[in-house]
Amino acid sequence: MRYDAIVIGTGQAGPSLASRLAKAGRRVAIIERKLFGGTCVNTGCIPTKAMVASAHAAHIARRGGDFGVKIGGPIEMDMRAVKARKDEISGRSRTGVEKWMRGLENCTVYTGQARFVSAREMSVGEERLEAELIFINVGGRAVTPPMPGLDQIPYLTNSSMMGIDFLPRHLVIIGGSYVGLEFGQMYRRFGSEVTIVEKAPRLASREDEDVSAGIKDILEKEGIHMRLNANCLAFERRGEDVAARVDCTEGAPEVIGSHVLLAIGRRPNTDDLGLDAAGVRTDKRGYVVVDEELRTNVPGIWALGDCNGRGAFTHTSYNDYEIVAANLLDGEKRRVSDRILAYNLYIDPPLGRCGMTEAEVRGSGRRALLGKREMTRVGRAVEKGETQGFMKILVDAESKQILGAAILGVEGDEAIHCILDTMYAKAPYTTLQRAVHIHPTVSELIPTMLGEMNPL
Ligand SMILES: Cc1cc2nc3c(=O)[nH]c(=O)nc-3n(C[C@H](O)[C@H](O)[C@H](O)COP(=O)(O)OP(=O)(O)OC[C@H]3O[C@@H](n4cnc5c(N)ncnc54)[C@H](O)[C@@H]3O)c2cc1C
Repeated sequence: MRYDAIVIGTGQAGPSLASRLAKAGRRVAIIERKLFGGTCVNTGCIPTKAMVASAHAAHIARRGGDFGVKIGGPIEMDMRAVKARKDEISGRSRTGVEKWMRGLENCTVYTGQARFVSAREMSVGEERLEAELIFINVGGRAVTPPMPGLDQIPYLTNSSMMGIDFLPRHLVIIGGSYVGLEFGQMYRRFGSEVTIVEKAPRLASREDEDVSAGIKDILEKEGIHMRLNANCLAFERRGEDVAARVDCTEGAPEVIGSHVLLAIGRRPNTDDLGLDAAGVRTDKRGYVVVDEELRTNVPGIWALGDCNGRGAFTHTSYNDYEIVAANLLDGEKRRVSDRILAYNLYIDPPLGRCGMTEAEVRGSGRRALLGKREMTRVGRAVEKGETQGFMKILVDAESKQILGAAILGVEGDEAIHCILDTMYAKAPYTTLQRAVHIHPTVSELIPTMLGEMNPL
């Protein structure tokens, strides 16, 4: 079958791109091998944030007394109902994407594993498809590296976690970064005992040290056990349980839990795509090498989303679609480097992040200003009874442009956007400092913080 364009994968870039191309009159084929909507919709952002919401409800219910709310009896979880709610939200999104693609004029949906046969041809089962333009949006999956004993024990990943409808007695999470931390707090709030095992000396080690310490403090206060510096991991079965040898500098040499969740990173789904047959280059970790406009080394083939290693988020994958569509169809010249790094960590309170970290600013050697404010000094946080964390911002002393920020605190996931937008506007920090923000909000203290900066 001949098409004008083939899109591989229905994650966060593929469907929108297929839709744009089809509406522009191109004949499009889109191929999905598993679940429509990909990671975010089925095993990533949407289901985990739905579960974070259940965990938050339980947490607030337990804290009812702090707000003068009386609840008769202990707070108990109905894990089947938690899963059913999550499945409903995620399922609605999945069927929405599938219906959208199947109902699209000029677009044919194929289900099955796509493989390159040449730079212009793909196979899907018995079918052969051909097109001048091919867009790879195959995403990634959890890494399960060889670790002693791992093949002897049952373990969970972010995907298989979506299928469980019971409460693990003791969940041992291997990996103290974004995915592990979100699951850790969530299951602790559901009522599991939780231990987070991390080989680095601190959690979320790409963040600044004060941010890592703040996250640790928040989680430890909820009774999550931490085993940092876990350098020598090995597993073995102990009856019904699993023992993880951690070899940390502190504490017992092993952790015994009922379930193990591996959250130690992700890898791109490029190993079974037949990229060699097309001559598409990947780096040593398997990410498709792309230029600033997301073109691969083979003319006519692009790579979008997590599989190109230029982003690891839903919004970055969607922005990849915007870049490719604008350049191909609107005669624009958009580039990946126009994008400012921004993301959230959805523990509670959340971490909102954009731009450079303080460590990166220090490493750059430039003259900079730093503003910092504890959430105990943010009225909105006090009123809500959620005063953990802090916010900080970094500004270039010469250009006055904002370099980066972190808000670890209630509403930090939303408040970060006024800083991010000022960065996109390339406006000096004084523009934000003079903006009159609404009272009472977390954002209203950002101008105040900007007025109290000190040289870094
Ligand atoms: C637990 C977890 C929580 C997350 N939370 C957030 C969050 O809160 N916010 C955020 O921004 N990001 C979050 N992410 C990351 C986010 O899910 C991903 O960045 C995003 O889904 C990437 O989308 P994508 O378009 O690159 O590909 P994907 O969504 O992974 O989609 C790729 C699709 O391609 C299909 N496919 C792969 N290979 C083939 C093939 N050969 N043939 C046919 N089809 C194929 C796959 O089946 C899949 O459907 C989270 C991730 C995880 C794991």
